[in-house]
Amino acid sequence: MVESAAEALYGLIHARYIITARGLNAMADKFRKTEFGRCPRVYCNGQGCLPVGLSDVPGHSTVKLYCPKCEDIYYPRNKYHGNMDGAYFGTTFAHLFMMTFPGLRPVKPTDKYVPKAFGFRIHPSAWGSTADDNNNGGNAGGSSRRQAVGGGGGGGGGANGITAAAAAAVVNSIKRDHDEAGELQKRDKKGQSAKKM
Ligand SMILES: [Zn+2]
Repeated sequence: MVESAAEALYGLIHARYIITARGLNAMADKFRKTEFGRCPRVYCNGQGCLPVGLSDVPGHSTVKLYCPKCEDIYYPRNKYHGNMDGAYFGTTFAHLFMMTFPGLRPVKPTDKYVPKAFGFRIHPSAWGSTADDNNNGGNAGGSSRRQAVGGGGGGGGGANGITAAAAAAVVNSIKRDHDEAGELQKRDKKGQSAKKM
């Protein structure tokens, strides 16, 4: 009882200390040595993280890692950190740190992961059709959206329906790309004939 209270008190003093000038400088040394761990996101290229709490009140949640590059938070991979209370670092430290040391702020990531199926970008309408499929259990021509995507596609039931929907989505995205390309060509031709005139 006394021990846990002492730990909480020490933790809260720590949270207060790391937002003082001395504390921030001590944390900057650790950050430069990437002692808090790296961002697991591929396009962050091993960016060093900072500890962050989701609450300033002890007992709410464990400490998380804040990546200043993608500006998201992650579970620490270190087991010792995984059990530490987030309030011992607080909600302010990571952001006050970045304001105090603008030179340590990383450049925002330019690369973003693009989901693809068979090499084609996935059209937003593809997500809706799979959800419908699961609900209707392959009910032939279940929804108007599905008809629009698959052109009816008298769907086999269950698992088969999901693959049919996925294929329809790919076909749809190919059609779309094709239509867009055709549209652009038409516009080009119009532009050329306008120039000739
Ligand atoms: Zn990141």
